[in-house]
Order: sequence, then C-alpha cells, then structure tokens
Amino acid sequence: MQELYDTIQNSIDGELDNLFGIARFLYENPELGNEEYKAHKLLTETLVAHGFSVDDKFCGFPTAFRAVYDSGKSGASIAYFCEYDALPDIGHGCGHNLICTMSLGAAFGLQAVLDSIGGKIVVFGTPAEETFGAKVAMADQGVFDDMTVGIMTHPNSVTRESGPSMALRPLIVSYTGRAAHASMAPEAGINALDALILFYNGVNALRQHVTRDVQFHGIITAGGVAPNIVPEYAEARFYIRAANMTNLTRAVERFKECAAGAASMTGATLTIKPFQTAYADMVTNQSLSAVYNKHLRDLGETILPGEIGGSIDMGNVSHRIPSVHGWLGFGDPNLIIHSKAFAERTVTDSGKTLLRRGALAMAFTGHDVIVSKDLQQQIAL
Ligand SMILES: [Zn+2]
Ligand SMILES: [Zn+2]
Repeated sequence: MQELYDTIQNSIDGELDNLFGIARFLYENPELGNEEYKAHKLLTETLVAHGFSVDDKFCGFPTAFRAVYDSGKSGASIAYFCEYDALPDIGHGCGHNLICTMSLGAAFGLQAVLDSIGGKIVVFGTPAEETFGAKVAMADQGVFDDMTVGIMTHPNSVTRESGPSMALRPLIVSYTGRAAHASMAPEAGINALDALILFYNGVNALRQHVTRDVQFHGIITAGGVAPNIVPEYAEARFYIRAANMTNLTRAVERFKECAAGAASMTGATLTIKPFQTAYADMVTNQSLSAVYNKHLRDLGETILPGEIGGSIDMGNVSHRIPSVHGWLGFGDPNLIIHSKAFAERTVTDSGKTLLRRGALAMAFTGHDVIVSKDLQQQIAL
C-alpha cells in the first residue's frame, strides 16, 4: 500500500511545477464564467498530453469538458472536478485557478497507479461556478450518475471539513406601472417604485417569520428615471438561501406572496424570473469525507469543522453521487475569500503548497475508494 502512495506522491511532485505554472497562467489571464476559453484550452491540452481522452464542449457548454482515463479493469470510477472561472475586477479571488490544478494533480497522481489497482478516473471541467453553475445542468442530465464518488477541493483562508452549503434561488422581481406627470397627472400614474419598496419592506418583515437558516439578500437595480415622472418600471435582484430545498421552497413561496401583495396594493404588474442558476444544498458524504480528512491530517493540516454559508454548484452533484467538497486553507484566518489579496495568495509559495496537499489528499482518497470494497459499501450507505 505504502508503495502505491509513494508512486502517487512522486507523480504529483513531478508534475507540481507544471501545474503551478498553469495556476499562474490562469491568475494572469482571468476569464469570467462561460468565457473560460484559455483555461479550457490549456487544461484539456494538458489532459490529452497525459493520455486522457477528452470530450470537448461537454453537455453543450463551450468551455466544459470531460476527460477520462480508464484502466480497462473493473473497479470504482473516481470523479474530480475542475472550476476555472474568475470574478469581475478581482480575478481569481475565489482561487479556482488552484481548484482545477489540484484536480489535475489528483488525476495524474492516481493515474500513476490505476493500471495496477483498476477503475477509472474522470475529470469534469465545469464552467461558471460563480454564476450559471454548469454542474447543475450536468447533474440534471445524469452525467455523474455512473461515478462511484465525486471529489473536489476549494481554497480557503483556513482548512475546514466539507460541510453543508446553502440552497440558493436567484430571482429578479420587477414591477411595471404607468408613467405620468408626477405633479400634473399623478392620479393617472401607477408607481412601480412604490410597489418595489413595499415589497422590499415586506421581505424585511418576513425575515423574522421564516426558519432561522433562511436568508434574503437584495439590491434595487431600477427605480425610475426622473423625479417628475411616476416610475414606470422598478426592479430588484434577490438571492434567497436556506439550509435545504424544503425550507428554500417554503421561503420562496412567502417571498412571492410579498411580491404579489405589493402588486395588488399599487396596481403595478409583477414579474418574477431567475437571473442565475439555482443551486441545491451540499450534502457531504461523511464516510468519504473522513478518508479525505485523514489524508489531509497526515499531510500536516489542522481541520476545523464545516460551516454553513454560501452556495456551491457541487451541491447539485452531491444529490446524485457521494461527494466531498473540502476547504483547504492558506492558514491565514484574516485572508478574505473573493478579494484581490486572496487571488495574489494563490500564486505564492503557500499557493503551491496548497495545490500539492489538495492534489495528494484527493489522489490518496481516490486510491482508497478503488482498493477497498468495504469503504465503497460504507460510502454507499
Ligand atoms: Zn466564489
Ligand atoms: Zn469558488
């Protein structure tokens, strides 16, 4: 067994400079969701060069891919996930340049022993995690369903267990009223902004009467064009989050009732529609997570408990196959994710250490799943 771990480690160490170079290239060339063409090209070329067979434009997404290395022997199928989209203005402030390179490292490490232990490695390239989460459509199409496990690692300020994440619905609420001179013919107008403000305040009143996990965060994105015109159109964008889909569905119903109430109070016409993809909550497979955590501890990590907050499209994967989404830290509690400082950290020596540890823990975990039928049974429970 130790011999196989050594082979995995030697393979990852041999690839480390190349993988870190890819992470640096992505840092220097950040691309927004569904526009990650340079990242897609570099990652798929690297996978092809390592003997993986690549399905390009997977599931119809121009920057998605699926890369497979099959030992040809029966055994478990290990899925690793690549994210490579960046954020507006701050580039790789979510560290997705390390997510994809960690997953490539894990795939190459496990590949080094796969012909002797059997099984299959699949690397999924999943665009636009920050906005339109391609994993959602992929999960809905069932493309992960033949995988034994799904594993990924996300950079973070500190190392945390794969925890729950929140289910999310992003909705635009808009009202259309009737424009009129605000002084000479106000009685002819229907005030869309008033409707929106009443709705906004209604949501604020609703906050204390939903389950405690529910969050509403909204901004007003349109509210009229001139003070002497009764506002004809007003619009807000909201994220509604909850710990699970049941609570989220109930919260969204109440939210919609507030919106409808404000429409009937003012006579404005209400429209509600999504503006980004809805994400399911993350359900961590505890047996899989325990193995992954053990390897991280062996590599010197101290692991804090998982924390709920935010939403990830890996949540949708976790409702289809046993999954883990670990948070691997730079060891700096003051470092804030989604910041320029976080992006800069990914290309320092600590970024390289994080890449190496994440790749090793994921490769070792993949190995353990393949070689242990007992573990496969525990995971499947
Ligand atoms: Zn993010
Ligand atoms: Zn992220």
